[in-house]
Amino acid sequence: MSQKDKTLYCHKQPDKLDKLEEEILLLEIENHELQQRVKRYDFDQYKLQEIQRLAKIGTWELNHLSYNLAISDELSQLLFDKPTNMVEISWQDFLDTIIAANDINIKQELIENVIQNGKSLDFEHNLKRYNNEIIYVRHHCKTFYNSIGQPLITVGMVHDFTFEHKQSLELKRRSITDELTQLYNRRHINKVLKEQRDIFIRYKTVSSYIMLDVDHFKRINDSFGHQVGDEVLQKFAKLIQNMIRSIDYASRWGGEEFLIICPNTTLANTVLLAEKLRKGLMKLKISTGTVVTASFGVGEISDGECTNTLLKRIDDALYEAKDNGRNRLVKSRTPR
Ligand code: GH3
Ligand code: MG
Ligand code: MG
Repeated sequence: MSQKDKTLYCHKQPDKLDKLEEEILLLEIENHELQQRVKRYDFDQYKLQEIQRLAKIGTWELNHLSYNLAISDELSQLLFDKPTNMVEISWQDFLDTIIAANDINIKQELIENVIQNGKSLDFEHNLKRYNNEIIYVRHHCKTFYNSIGQPLITVGMVHDFTFEHKQSLELKRRSITDELTQLYNRRHINKVLKEQRDIFIRYKTVSSYIMLDVDHFKRINDSFGHQVGDEVLQKFAKLIQNMIRSIDYASRWGGEEFLIICPNTTLANTVLLAEKLRKGLMKLKISTGTVVTASFGVGEISDGECTNTLLKRIDDALYEAKDNGRNRLVKSRTPR
């Protein structure tokens, strides 16, 4: 409206113009409020996204009418390393990323118990990412209904705890491993000793034991230093690890003494292994060219014998080997 028209209009209908201006003002206020709300909504969405990113929690939402699946940015990043707007994923695609855990068929549980029967469930399982990498997740799912009991949406919260899981595995590995040799430590081998005794009592399955001690190890340390001594222990540990079977247990009992447990193995077969180790040790290539030998005590578990008595018997055999001139093996006779 030109100034002239306005003046004319104003002159003719002053009330109408006031009302119009008032309406425009109200609309502008409403518009401003809407813009503020949109901004707040965007900010809330951003906050939610950041919370999900920090907590490593992704969410999904399945619409029961359309069977459309919507996933949050964090879940999209977890699965595809891409933001949601660059990803197209169907309900079936999502189910295909789920890997069964502890014999529980998660897909079936999700479809039957959460989607169809409307239960809230928590799972712990693996997910397969776009590059086949496996991640560990805790998964909480819940179905929401309308007032007449029809399911509307199912939502899922997926928490990626791969880092924590790997860290706890590593801590567990360290708690049972000897740092220098990477063999089992004494604490763990004590547990295995007890288990093998229980197995013997229950099933009468024999296990055999090799206790060995490096000969004149002090001399190696004194002549070449502790570093060379450590090198001998590490190389010897590797040799043991390569020679034993995957079901055997090799441990550093202490200092330069090792204990090997051979489950389900007779004394005769364990003697063969010990002889192989003895000969292998003599061929070990040490940086100083030193030839290393060890003495061995070998024995088999027997009826009514506690682990301490068994170990004492094998240790006695080892010291007999030392007394007989070292670099040899003595069988411990099984008490009848
Ligand atoms: P024997 O033939 O009678 O077994 O004699 P030995 O010298 O091997 O036995 P002794 O018990 O006299 O000495 C063992 C030495 O092993 C003493 C100790 O300092 C050394 N030792 C123990 N643990 C380690 C280790 O982790 N690294 C190194 N380099 N030496 C160690
Ligand atoms: Mg020794
Ligand atoms: Mg010793």
